[in-house]
Amino acid sequence: MLQSKLFTKTLREAPKDEESVNAKLLTRGGYIYKNSAGVYSFLPLGWRVIKKIADIIREEMNAVGGEEIFMPALVEKKYWDATNRWNVPVGYEVFGKNEDETSFILGWSHEDLLTAMVTKFINSYKDLPFSAYQIQTKFRNEPRAKSGLLRGKEFMMKDLYSFHTDEADLNKYYERVAKAYHKIFKRCGLKSIYTLAAGGDFTTGNTHEFQVLSDVGEDTIYVCEKCGYAENNEISKLKDEGPCSRCRGKINAHKAIEVGNIFPLGTKYSKAVNLKFKDKNGEEKLVVMGSYGIGLGRVMGTIVEVYNDERGLIWPEQVAPFKVHLIELAGSSAKKIYEKLRKLGIEVLYDERDISAGAKFSDADLIGLPYRVVVSPKTGKKFELKKRSSKAIKLVSEAELIKLLKS
Ligand code: ATP
Ligand code: MG
Repeated sequence: MLQSKLFTKTLREAPKDEESVNAKLLTRGGYIYKNSAGVYSFLPLGWRVIKKIADIIREEMNAVGGEEIFMPALVEKKYWDATNRWNVPVGYEVFGKNEDETSFILGWSHEDLLTAMVTKFINSYKDLPFSAYQIQTKFRNEPRAKSGLLRGKEFMMKDLYSFHTDEADLNKYYERVAKAYHKIFKRCGLKSIYTLAAGGDFTTGNTHEFQVLSDVGEDTIYVCEKCGYAENNEISKLKDEGPCSRCRGKINAHKAIEVGNIFPLGTKYSKAVNLKFKDKNGEEKLVVMGSYGIGLGRVMGTIVEVYNDERGLIWPEQVAPFKVHLIELAGSSAKKIYEKLRKLGIEVLYDERDISAGAKFSDADLIGLPYRVVVSPKTGKKFELKKRSSKAIKLVSEAELIKLLKS
């Protein structure tokens, strides 16, 4: 893409009303725009990142057999009444203008709606197990929305729901999804820690969170140095520097960001809506369920919190909006190599703007694409190649450049 065509502009200064590093850098780089506190637009660069994260999530959800669906954001009162969740305070209530004054909540989760729908499709054990997921907008009344993409009033979530004949089958699938989650976060450049946690507004039992260590995290988790076992302090009896309950290794307390959460729901929702199936002996039983969430914006914000320096963003390659920032300096043209790289399927942001070299370099550092390639009268037939994550600059031939960027 030609950089002159981007309708967004980079900003030298972060907006005064942003406190978090992710919001400051993403706003300065032209990735996001704050419309209201906790409500953001994704601009062309930012939307490309979200789509990359979504692609990774889709691949891994499809790999565990999830069927993609798309449910409405407007969820009528009767569904929340059935599961006794109408009064959970995070929901935004919306009154219809129609004569019956039907009430809705903007969906903050979708167990209630999906479970009710599924009663129409499940009769026998032969219909189980299955799982369905969506990537959709959720709405939650978050009073302190000051963490940029980490905590929005409106945010995109991937939510997967699974349906089983019994606990054993749920547990097997739960572990499969947990593995898929670690893979998703790893592919996004994040190291996730599997952490025992409370059930929140979803379930009375324990759940598991995927936590990424970061000083800006709102959670405190206790992690064993030796075996890696971790618990969220909201439920934990472990102590900082105390012994691990599993292996007696040393526990350390850390600040962390919850990027994902998975829930063994058991029969809580199926009981509420009478979701039953006939087993092999013709006996009626309640369906056993699980649910599994990842916030896409929170993942993006977490990546930014982990990968940045004083000059800007440093995207891991798999989620970068483009792989290469191609910069042409006055007196040269990078058009030929731009076309070549594009034909090879390499994603390039081509800075052909008529501005100073310094401004181009500081934009490249701020935007943070993995590779910077400079063409200038000084480089002759060669190209100056630099990784955003390192200081080393290499002068390479066209063949070398293509080989490096293709790998
Ligand atoms: P938190 O404890 O951070 O408020 P939660 O436990 O209520 O979050 P879940 O219901 O577990 O959130 O949601 C699943 C996932 O959705 C979270 O792990 C997180 O990645 C994301 N998420 C939740 N709330 C928000 C939010 N307000 N903004 C952005 N992402 C969110
Ligand atoms: Mg959670």
